[in-house]
Amino acid sequence: MSRNKCFRCGLINSNADRLCRRCGVNLGSPENAPPQSATGPVLEPRKPTNRPSRIVGIAVAMLSTALLYNYRMHSSEPPRPKPPTESEIRLNEKKESERRQQERDRETLDKLK
Ligand SMILES: [Zn+2]
Repeated sequence: MSRNKCFRCGLINSNADRLCRRCGVNLGSPENAPPQSATGPVLEPRKPTNRPSRIVGIAVAMLSTALLYNYRMHSSEPPRPKPPTESEIRLNEKKESERRQQERDRETLDKLK
């Protein structure tokens, strides 16, 4: 690169300029870089803040998937916890028929009155 074009405002500064003459942005490196990054040791100021947030993001993702999985497991279950067995069905049919019989008896009794 022979010229420093400002990435923020687009002004072309001379190669010697470290900062943009118009907006004063650091031309050596992208935004948020320390002003003396060329001379000082390379620091990574974002790392301490980036790492926990990434871990939290992973944890949140895992938690949400676990919750979703759990929810699906429960919601996919039929309303009845277990299908009725044959004897239970027969018992229900018997009860149902008995109830109908009682209703019929009551109706006939009402008619007789
Ligand atoms: Zn600029």
